[in-house]
Formats: sequence, C-alpha cells, structure tokens
Amino acid sequence: MAVRTAVRAAVVPAIGAPLEVTGIELPEPGPGQVRVKLAAAGVCHSDLSLSNGTMRVPLPAVLGHEGAGTVVAVGEGVTRVAPGDDVVLNWAPSCGSCHACTLGEVWLCANALAGAADVHARRADDGTDLHPGLNVAAFAEETVVSASCVLPAPEGIPLTEAALLGCAVLTGYGAVHHSARVREGETVAVFGVGGVGLATLQAARIAGASTIVAVDVSPEKEELARAAGATDYLLASDTTAREVRALTGKQGVDVAVECVGRATTIRTAWESTRRGGRTTVVGIGGKDQQVTFNALEIFHWGRTLSGCVYGNADPARDLPVLAEHVRAGRLDLGALVTERIALDGIPAAFENMLAGKGGRALVVF
Ligand SMILES: [Zn+2]
Ligand SMILES: [Zn+2]
Repeated sequence: MAVRTAVRAAVVPAIGAPLEVTGIELPEPGPGQVRVKLAAAGVCHSDLSLSNGTMRVPLPAVLGHEGAGTVVAVGEGVTRVAPGDDVVLNWAPSCGSCHACTLGEVWLCANALAGAADVHARRADDGTDLHPGLNVAAFAEETVVSASCVLPAPEGIPLTEAALLGCAVLTGYGAVHHSARVREGETVAVFGVGGVGLATLQAARIAGASTIVAVDVSPEKEELARAAGATDYLLASDTTAREVRALTGKQGVDVAVECVGRATTIRTAWESTRRGGRTTVVGIGGKDQQVTFNALEIFHWGRTLSGCVYGNADPARDLPVLAEHVRAGRLDLGALVTERIALDGIPAAFENMLAGKGGRALVVF
C-alpha cells in the first residue's frame, strides 16, 4: 500500500452539510500526478455553490479550486514540473482532443471535470473516500493533482497573490477581454462587487473603459469598487437600469457584466445596456432563477446576452499576460483580498458571501 501523508483539509460531507476541517490522508502522487504544498487558496462563490448543491460534484469532497503553492513530489512520467517549483492551480484542465478543445475553446473542454469522480484522499478519522471537488482540492495544506492542473507560477509575484489568478482574476479578466471584448473608450457596468466583480472592474480599467459603473447591494463596497477602477457606484434598487442609463447620456452602457447569478440582476444588467449592448453573465445561479424576455424587445434592442465559463480563458495563455499586468502595476491582486483566514475560517467566509459582504477571503497556510 502506498505511503499516505496526513494533512488538514476542509471537507464538505454532503449537500447542505456544514464544512468540516479535518485530517485527510493523501496518497503519494501516482503516474502523471503531482503533490503540491499550498501557500494560499481563495474562497470562491463556486465553493459555496458546490457545498449547497447549486452546482453538483461527487461528495464528500475537499473543496477549494483557486490556489497556488510549491510542488513537493511528482509521480512517474511527470516532466512539466519538479519538486521545488512554484505553481498556480488550474481547476479546469483541457484535454486537447474534444470538440471544444479542437476549436480552441478550452474553457468548455468536455473532459475538464472528468477527475471529479476519482477518489482523491480519505478521511483520517473514519477512512471515508473523498473526491477532489473541482479537481484540485485546494482547501488543504497539501493536495495531489493531475500535472495538467498546474501552471508555472509567474515570477516576481508572491504565491499568496498568485493564488487569485487561478479563478477570480482569470474569470473577471476573461469576462471583459474574451467574452464582452471591451474596447477602449467603451462604458461598462459591473453587477456584484465580490472577488470576481473587483477583478472585472480592474480588467475594465485595463481595457481603457471610459465610464465604469459598479453596482452592489452593500454601501460598504464603494471604496473597494472605486479603488478597483469604478468611476461611479450605485446601490442596487428597482431603478438601477435607469440610473445606469442616466450616467451614460441616457443610452445605457456598452457592456454589462453580471457577477451575481440571479434572475433580477441578469435582467437589470441587460436593461442597463444600450441598443446593441453586450451582457456577459459570470454569476452562477440555480435552476429556479428564470429570466424572461419578450420577443419584441429582443428585436428592438438588438442586444447580446452571453454566458461565460472560467472567463472564456485559456489559463496557459492568459496567466503570463495577467502576470505582466501585475508586474506593471495595472492589476492589483492584493486589493481583491479583504480577509486573510485559516482553514477554520472558511465556514465564516461562506456566511459572509451569503450576506454579500467583502471581496475575496484568502486562506493562507
Ligand atoms: Zn472560483
Ligand atoms: Zn477537451
């Protein structure tokens, strides 16, 4: 039997059950796998969605999918990385051979989550098999992942900041640059100022957007939003779409990015855009969130509504680009983090997300 290493991890036992921080036993990395000692892991809204069943993966699982750390061991046949290398985790590795991959749409890879059903580790207390959440199981002191789930960490950026590149920043940047394709001088509205929303605001600023409107339910996020690039801040209300239009010569913004995943917010984002405007939905909502449109308005407004998965990004291509923005001072990763916590702090971070508080909570190991 392979040698196992015991580490602490945050485990979701079943849908809706509280997260448990407990000991897990990790196997040695098998062929094509690497073991990573985590430096930091961001707490993403998708972790909450996985724990409450809005998104489904095999449970019980170790959650956490936005992280960075150092390779401590590699399995047979791994040549991409070696022990001692710093890496950023990529929760959606692409297979390179499915229809989406052959078209270059690697973020839609049909096999990205093929590893979610694998047994990743087992609980140290009762031996229960654990799955790897979104492939990478980053809410743990150490993890074992496929070598396809690690990317070289960019030079000159602390791992505690590089961790955020793996989900929030790729998603927010990708929503602006790949999905909505914001052009210099365009106007942008961002709905929802959490970790992804803040990254989206910074990306809109990098794209050269002229007016950047941030919308949130919480007055406390105004300062964070403005520091990330928002030129205007609106508290969400029944009249938000009208207020956004008022800020843009009554036309509406060129681009709206919805980072909440609720029917009313998606509808408001869409109504906030000009004729021909583009709305990108980054937020992940449940099946109960039904958005309705009438046939005449779809014709009249000529607008586009798009989904967006992992920022429609190619992590291997985009990570070095993001790193360059960080090094040049255009992208401030530290500004996304509103709280540094230990593994035990994740349940409270989930509560804060449910209450709409804060930006990114970062687990620092
Ligand atoms: Zn995420
Ligand atoms: Zn594929």
